[in-house]
Amino acid sequence: MRLSQLHLSTLREPPADTASVNERLLRRAGFVRKVEAGTFAFLPLGAKVILKMVRLFEEQLEREGFYPVIPPLTEPVQAVIETARSQVRSWRSLPLRWYVWNRCRNDGIEPRGGLLETREWMNLQMWAFAGDEPSAGQEGLLMRDVLSRVCQRIGLEVLAGGGDGWRILALVPSGKDRLLQCSSCGQAFVPEWYPLAPSEEPASSEGIPPAEVVDTPNLRTVEEVSRFLNVPLSQLVKTLLVEADGGVVAALVRGDHELSLPKLQSALGAEQVGLLSAERVEQVSRAPVGFAGPVGLNHVPLIADWAVRAMQDFVVGANLADAHRVHVCWGRDFAEPRWADLRIASAGDRCALCGGELVSQQGVQLGSIRPWRGAHGLVYDALQGRQQTASLVVGDLNLTRTMACLVEAGHDRDGMVWKPRVAPYEALVLVLNPSEEGHLQIADRLCADMDERGIEAVIDDRDERAGAKFKDADLIGIPVQVVVGRTASEGVVEVRLRRDRVPHRVAVEDVVIVVEELLHREAGEQ
Ligand SMILES: [Zn+2]
Repeated sequence: MRLSQLHLSTLREPPADTASVNERLLRRAGFVRKVEAGTFAFLPLGAKVILKMVRLFEEQLEREGFYPVIPPLTEPVQAVIETARSQVRSWRSLPLRWYVWNRCRNDGIEPRGGLLETREWMNLQMWAFAGDEPSAGQEGLLMRDVLSRVCQRIGLEVLAGGGDGWRILALVPSGKDRLLQCSSCGQAFVPEWYPLAPSEEPASSEGIPPAEVVDTPNLRTVEEVSRFLNVPLSQLVKTLLVEADGGVVAALVRGDHELSLPKLQSALGAEQVGLLSAERVEQVSRAPVGFAGPVGLNHVPLIADWAVRAMQDFVVGANLADAHRVHVCWGRDFAEPRWADLRIASAGDRCALCGGELVSQQGVQLGSIRPWRGAHGLVYDALQGRQQTASLVVGDLNLTRTMACLVEAGHDRDGMVWKPRVAPYEALVLVLNPSEEGHLQIADRLCADMDERGIEAVIDDRDERAGAKFKDADLIGIPVQVVVGRTASEGVVEVRLRRDRVPHRVAVEDVVIVVEELLHREAGEQ
């Protein structure tokens, strides 16, 4: 393979129209070309990285019993489900595990971060059709492990966090997505789902002055009320009116906390929850939005976050326009509510599983795994002739974004540094002076020898200055560089890793062994 055939063209200067590291490097190195905002064409070196990832995922997927299917372009999701329906007769055909490669386009996406958020991307979709919810949960774990393992093998540090399913987060400093991780047990969840302990003791209402209504003209937010009454946010209680499966529930959280709808839904065991519309809030609380409170909210069941149990003498809405109630105590001014873990967790909170402190992890969400909630009509014959509905899990991973993360995580001042498993080639043979007698032949022979040992190599045979070739080699980041220079005529070349660029003088006949050893070491570090 020769770079002159690839027509590699690198840019001397980084493109000026982007601040994103991955886009600057990938475009400068000629891996991709920008077509329009959020849309890129992949040139051979870039396409090879994507295809290598595809192969690694396929290996791992098949090892775990997932097999490829190719649905039609129109309504592919429906087609996958219908095809599964035609395949599944009885419990014997379950679980059914499939995967699909999709090229996706969404014009509604606001492009950002170079190839991290694009309008077009290459997507891996995994499907598991399981006999029931618990087995579907197991399938979700399997998908999580497949995705995490491959991401780690290609050199990304990833974290799998729970939620409604799983999120796969690549830990790169430029990432904007977030998971909370316990610094003690290592568990991770999205903040809405991280279970928090009912650690706090109930507060007593003894000696607290009677509750009274105070004017809070047009003050609707907790921040406004806190400032006006000169009490800290943590001494306010928010009352959120929620519709749960057709009924109304009031959820109470501390003023500086946020209600997690998923936690509320699970505490109530409801199929669906959602905040009430302004109109319905006014009907239920008989006050404009922003003034609802638990006192006098008859016939509405109350559920409160554990943190409220540790409070007394707090401020709530008065269920009257422009008024709040102060010195309120639960159990005295309104019935003791049902207690539950209802708030969105944040860094510094304590893990319910072990009591450890939660820390925030920043990164880029590469994929997610979630239960399929849509209709599917997949019914099968269970044991004893019963008919049972199957449970579906679907997982996605954005390969384009994964590639961008690899660049974000693996680069230095001079360019990209690819790990051998995803590098477009594993070795680059630089022929510094192709017109020198015999040098190209040496390079060809080295390439052929490496090919025989399963090492993919490419020769830089372009008619360029040596300096430009070294610069390009560092920019495109192929993990091993073999330099065929002046000493080649005496049978000696230089071999070095792109990562540290420490040169090793090696006899031509030993090059393949040395390259193999270096690649092995690079891959082992993953
Ligand atoms: Zn923990």
